[in-house]
Amino acid sequence: MTFATLNLIEPLQRALSKEGYTTPTPIQIQAIPPLLEGRDVVGIAQTGTGKTAAFVLPMLQRMTQDHKVPMRNSPRVLVLAPTRELAAQIGQSFSAYGRFLRFRHTVIFGGVGQGPQVNALSQGVDILVATPGRLLDLIEQRYVKLSNVEFLVLDEADRMLDMGFIVDVRKIVALVPQKRQTLLFSATMSPPVTQLARSLLKDPVRVEVTPEKMTVERIEQKVLFVDEDKKGELLLGLVRQGHLKCVLVFTRTKHRANKVAEMLEKSGIKADAIHGNKSQSQRMRALQNFKTGRVQVLVATDIAARGIDIDAISHVINYDLPNEPESYVHRIGRTARAGADGTAYSFCASEDRDFLRDIERLTRTKIETLEHPHHSERAMNAVGTAARPPPKQQWGGQRRFNRGGSGGHGGGNRGAPRHFKRR
Ligand code: AMP
Repeated sequence: MTFATLNLIEPLQRALSKEGYTTPTPIQIQAIPPLLEGRDVVGIAQTGTGKTAAFVLPMLQRMTQDHKVPMRNSPRVLVLAPTRELAAQIGQSFSAYGRFLRFRHTVIFGGVGQGPQVNALSQGVDILVATPGRLLDLIEQRYVKLSNVEFLVLDEADRMLDMGFIVDVRKIVALVPQKRQTLLFSATMSPPVTQLARSLLKDPVRVEVTPEKMTVERIEQKVLFVDEDKKGELLLGLVRQGHLKCVLVFTRTKHRANKVAEMLEKSGIKADAIHGNKSQSQRMRALQNFKTGRVQVLVATDIAARGIDIDAISHVINYDLPNEPESYVHRIGRTARAGADGTAYSFCASEDRDFLRDIERLTRTKIETLEHPHHSERAMNAVGTAARPPPKQQWGGQRRFNRGGSGGHGGGNRGAPRHFKRR
């Protein structure tokens, strides 16, 4: 099975081969044909299955069937996503797969100033990817109208409902014309999601993939429990002793990316960092050096890594686990590209435990533990509570002094923060 067999048009096939994708994933094989026919589709698939391309590709192709000039503030495609992370990733997919087509897309989400988003919308937009809250805001201010929407996509509908967006979603959908093609993707089909699907879709085709068929299944995943202050030594040991060749390391912040790259360089390992504070030319140079093997380890933040498309990456190392579980799947998807195998190592300190739990929930896998010289039982046995501890809180001894004993911990719990309990 190839993308040509799915009857995708040439500019899309060319974009796919540029991404290094030769074979469609199961969700793409199932969803693309009915979507190209104009049918409504309910897709049961989670991140990592290739579900984004499964709807972005046919949407782009359908749009080429009649040429329309992008209209001010009035998109033809509306994609709703629960988080800004996901919205940004979907926007990126429209850029990647649509690189040889001339459609304009815009991503809007809350938490940032609306100025640039309003500006982009006013310059004409074919495709709008949005989180529900910000979209409603902009609709109310008359910066967006939905009367020309022909294609409506609800991505991660289950999360959208979990996050309490149902009322917003219904308000938005009420503004979209009845005559449209509707797609709903969800990792699970809980009764509320089924009910939502029933009310929005007409005679939908149901497509489903099980998590076993995830594209990440070729990636060997390991978790390494380690105390925060030993992460540097652990990384150094791994890169040196494992003779790792082309390693992409992820950190939570730009500052940490710099620190880690510096530490590696000082130890004689060719490393560089890329993140938002580096100029475009610095980033290009770092990427080029990484591609050609002059740099062995590239340290990146999530945002900076978005465009990294290097087939030779053999290892992804999560120096810090991401706080959005989807980012984990996207990060490790940087390895095992173009049919190759890859390995993902994740460092997990006590404070990362909640993130690990979220990742294991999302991917529905228990990531295997890898023993190593800096293994930390404390990190392994730490169990996060529902509320994460505030970052600057003092734990342990200091806390006991501050609270005159009331914040102290039980005898068997020596050294462990009060909000964590031993298994
Ligand atoms: P998604 O499930 O949409 O989050 O996609 C998971 C990852 O799979 C992303 O990094 C995509 O770029 C990648 N991907 C999508 N389609 C394919 C394909 N046909 N072959 C290989 N990788 C793909």
